[in-house]
Amino acid sequence: MKKKLILFVLEVLAVMSLLGCGAEKYKVNADSGFELDKKSYAAGEEVTAYFKYVATDTDYNFYCENDDVKIKTDYDNAHGYVITFTMPDHDVTIGVKSRNTMTMDYNAHPEINTDVPSSAYEIWKCPDCGTLNAMPFCTECGRKKPGVN
Ligand SMILES: [Zn+2]
Repeated sequence: MKKKLILFVLEVLAVMSLLGCGAEKYKVNADSGFELDKKSYAAGEEVTAYFKYVATDTDYNFYCENDDVKIKTDYDNAHGYVITFTMPDHDVTIGVKSRNTMTMDYNAHPEINTDVPSSAYEIWKCPDCGTLNAMPFCTECGRKKPGVN
C-alpha cells in the first residue's frame, strides 16, 4: 500500500516536470560580447550579464527590448560592464548600442567631396545587356555609356 503511494507521487512529479510546471526557465537573448552567468533563468531570478568588449573612446548604451524589464548597468574593473535585471516570466532580449566618440561626423563636413561632380560616379544601366556600370563603358559587353563619345 505504501509502495503504491510512493509510485503515485513519483508519477505526479514526472508529469509535472514534463509539463515544466513550477520549474519553467526563460532565456536571455543577447548580442555577441555579452556573457551570461547562466543559460536559463526562472521568473524572479536575478540575471547578471557581463559585457567585456570595452574601448575607452566608446560610449555604450545598454538596452532591453522588453518594456517590462528594467536593466541596471554597473561598471566593474574585473568584468567590464555588468548588467543586472530580474527575470520576468518570458524570454528577454538585451543589446548594446555603441558610439565611438572619436569618430568624425562626416555629415558636418559636406565640403569634403564637393570638388568631384556627382555625375562622374553616376551608375547607368547598359541598354544592351542590362548590367549596371560605374565606368563610361559596359564592363559586361563593352558598349559605350549612352552620351559618351
Ligand atoms: Zn552591356
